[in-house]
Amino acid sequence: MNDAETPKPAESEPVDFLREIVKADLASGKHAGVVTRFPPEPNGYLHIGHAKSICLNFGVAKEFGGRCHLRFDDTNPTKEEQEYIDSIQEDVRWLGFDWAPHLYYASDYFDRLYDWALVLIKAGKAYVDDLSADQIREYRGTLTEPGRNSPHRERAVEENLDLFTRMRQGEFENGSRVLRAKIDMASGNINMRDPVLYRILHAHHPRTGDAWCVYPTYDYAHGQSDAIEGITHSLCTLEFEDHKPLYEWLIDNLPVPSRPRQYEFARLNLTYTVLSKRFLLRLVNEGRVRGWDDPRMPTISGIRRRGFPAEAMRQFAEMIGVARRESMVEYAALEYCVRQVLNRTSQRRMAVLRPLKVVITNYPEGQVEAFEVLNNPEDPAAGVRAVPFSRELYIERDDFLEAPPKKFFRLAPGREVRLRAAYFITCNEVVKAADGSVAELRCTYDPGSRGGSTPDGRSPKATLHWVSAARASTGEVRLYDQLFVRPDPGAERDLLEDLNPASEEILTDCRLEPSLAELAPGTRVQFERLGYFCVDRDSQPGRPVFNRTVTLRDTWAKVQAKA
Ligand code: ATP
Ligand code: MG
Repeated sequence: MNDAETPKPAESEPVDFLREIVKADLASGKHAGVVTRFPPEPNGYLHIGHAKSICLNFGVAKEFGGRCHLRFDDTNPTKEEQEYIDSIQEDVRWLGFDWAPHLYYASDYFDRLYDWALVLIKAGKAYVDDLSADQIREYRGTLTEPGRNSPHRERAVEENLDLFTRMRQGEFENGSRVLRAKIDMASGNINMRDPVLYRILHAHHPRTGDAWCVYPTYDYAHGQSDAIEGITHSLCTLEFEDHKPLYEWLIDNLPVPSRPRQYEFARLNLTYTVLSKRFLLRLVNEGRVRGWDDPRMPTISGIRRRGFPAEAMRQFAEMIGVARRESMVEYAALEYCVRQVLNRTSQRRMAVLRPLKVVITNYPEGQVEAFEVLNNPEDPAAGVRAVPFSRELYIERDDFLEAPPKKFFRLAPGREVRLRAAYFITCNEVVKAADGSVAELRCTYDPGSRGGSTPDGRSPKATLHWVSAARASTGEVRLYDQLFVRPDPGAERDLLEDLNPASEEILTDCRLEPSLAELAPGTRVQFERLGYFCVDRDSQPGRPVFNRTVTLRDTWAKVQAKA
């Protein structure tokens, strides 16, 4: 990304239409301060789309000196769980945001919402309907046809009050009655055709227990919760645009303590990715992944386990910005941000994923030398470490070819290569296993090339990473690729059919330089020439497990593609 595309900080100029609005509202004195909220429904783990919304809501509040609330929209007890409430808090914190004391639940407002429903009934603006869900749908009409009034629409206020009170007292079965706003069954906006405000649900709620058997709908609870909390700018995705007249109708007709305003922005869509809690839950329930935090999942817990830094996620949110136009963002743009941050922050290490043994025949048996290697050429403060070198080493199996094609510059019979930070070696002999595969290479080293250069200035075309066999530890490396094979999964068939069958490859016999043996889960490193990796929580003492976060750009793959 060049400078021209880099968004400017908000202190100078607002960078998107929402920040323009907030800035203008503060300048005009319409609001003394900005208050936003992030309102997840605790019915699954948060995904990368939610991260965009979190960065926007918390970001705007922070930039304009306001505050952002975390509010659980916990109005549907049949789908909501404490596990989700906990994970959502962990994810928001991990992204680097803090709601301070402003943690709320829509369920905190159940009493007030109920009282306000009575207000609407008394004003003749809500009624109890006995139609079934199917009948309500049928009566609702379509985009081209108006709806029809329910036969119960003209019930007297007293009867509505009586029925609604009895609904709340638990007299009726699930689905037998609802409370509806009395607006306009002929409205061009289907959301205004007497929307349901309350439904009967005899269900245990994670927070209110069995206190309630009627629960408010999202549309009823959301705007009123905003008003109770003094939210000034209620930012949501475009699918709620058609709900805005209802949001405003409710605010207009209830004695709410403040007047929040809803603004919509385009949701994030990412190539090769599905951002829908419902579908992600299906992947988990059907065992297609190892859980919500499987490193292939586009959940925040998944990308965290995969090794994405929170900073990269925030940078990505800033880079894509917010707009009202729907768009599809390249997954590669997210990876770009991840590489940017990791290149700067992660230490370099050597690891051999598919080991091939190399014996340096002219190197003394039992001798071990330590080479000082820079931990991060991008960050001198990261210092150096000692890497042991010995007569037996491992190199990457695909760094050797017995009959190399043109443009393959790595090790081959008779060829000299540089071992990173160590010596030049030349391959003299290929030892084969009984099945004809390459079992071992016998090489000689040039003692005059210590540290990676020679007095005569010759320079081999390839530099390989390596690990001392005597000092290596063995570990597991999990290679991850896109979860879906298509950039637009599910476009032509069921989403599950577009799953990438090769999204995970597990290598169990990897050889790692000694400093990789005992790292804390979550530690991120670059394996030289291979990519960025993150220590997984499945690691055991003496047997680390690494997840591949993202590859480095692979020039050989490009050359092959061109060939
Ligand atoms: P899903 O469709 O994945 O279930 P949701 O919208 O039902 O998501 P909520 O918990 O209701 O999930 O969402 C909380 C907030 O996150 C809402 O304000 C919603 O607009 C926002 N959000 C959800 N998905 C995206 C997305 N892809 N891009 C941006 N914001 C999103
Ligand atoms: Mg939702």
